[in-house]
Amino acid sequence: GETIGILGGGQLGRMIAMAAAQLGYRSHIYAPEADSIAAEVSAEFTCAAWDDAEAMARFAAGCAVVTYEFENVPVGPLAALGDVPLLAKTLALETAQDRLNEKRFVTDLGGTPAPFHPVDSAADLAEAIAAIGVPGILKTRRDGYDGKGQWRIMTPEDAEGLDLPAQPLIYEGFVTFFAEFSVILCRGADGEIRYFDSAHNVHEGGILALSTVPAPAGPLEQVPAARELAAKVADALDYVGVLTLEFFATENGPVFNEMAPRVHNSGHWTIEGAITSQFENHVRAICGLPLGDTGLAADAVEMRNLIGNEADDWQAILSDPANHLHLYGKGAARPGRKMGHVTRLTFQRD
Ligand code: ATP
Ligand code: MG
Ligand code: MG
Repeated sequence: GETIGILGGGQLGRMIAMAAAQLGYRSHIYAPEADSIAAEVSAEFTCAAWDDAEAMARFAAGCAVVTYEFENVPVGPLAALGDVPLLAKTLALETAQDRLNEKRFVTDLGGTPAPFHPVDSAADLAEAIAAIGVPGILKTRRDGYDGKGQWRIMTPEDAEGLDLPAQPLIYEGFVTFFAEFSVILCRGADGEIRYFDSAHNVHEGGILALSTVPAPAGPLEQVPAARELAAKVADALDYVGVLTLEFFATENGPVFNEMAPRVHNSGHWTIEGAITSQFENHVRAICGLPLGDTGLAADAVEMRNLIGNEADDWQAILSDPANHLHLYGKGAARPGRKMGHVTRLTFQRD
């Protein structure tokens, strides 16, 4: 079969490669780290720096299409992909790599993010706090994930003691929300959009802990408006593949948090819990195949992340036959590191 190139070597790439294999495709991983858990399940692996143009060109030469599981891939070196299509496209990467860009982009399309202000100096931060108030969160514009690169500012004094990192930042007002949910959609090569059910997401310490479907009535009511925005984003980016938008459900409707131009942790429940998983639909979309049904395969689904040493209990987890256990094959468990997840389906007859 044909080969799909995947930029990034983590668990999302691993799950894309597994779905690709099921459809008869080979995967070729490109990642800078030598111990890639995606490469373990793929036919080929190029371990090279993102800016190694020669390695990137050789990688592309063997691929029918290239996608990414990691949205912080530097855009410049992707010129070395030449004529091989990159899906989703570079514009999606550029937009979503920078919190300031993505908030402006979504605002222009009619979405509502938290109030925000770019911060490049201590003076900017003081200005941001004067304009937006406290509490708030200072975030790096680029490269953050799992709540890394974020500082909560409860009082103006908190800001004065901060040693600002030497990179572009953004200050956001703290959103009072009653729930968090995500919209995960898949847009096909022909522009057709299919939505997965929106999961209710619970974060602990800035890291996703739990996703449940269906979401409770409160956040569920806000899904149509959130989907409408997500579709505008997908259309504006001429997007192909799976796209995720994270939202806060508030008394004033959905507030946009951030987007991920890729498959998403809050969609892992779709592997067993949807007719077609987010990974399979992503592969179908980038390969120009018809999309699969995104409907639920059970009455309710719950996905719990195994973070740090939580994965050590894997034998206990397996002792319940209803549990679907996923272990990512990462080496050492470190606090805050996502080691795997468990999914449970429930049926009304239970
Ligand atoms: P991810 O792993 O999802 O990419 P990230 O590092 O990009 O995470 P965010 O999504 O910005 O982080 O924030 C992580 C979590 O912190 C959010 O899901 C939410 O629970 C909380 N949070 C972030 N920004 C705000 C905000 N402005 N107001 C209230 N809570 C927030
Ligand atoms: Mg993020
Ligand atoms: Mg997030």
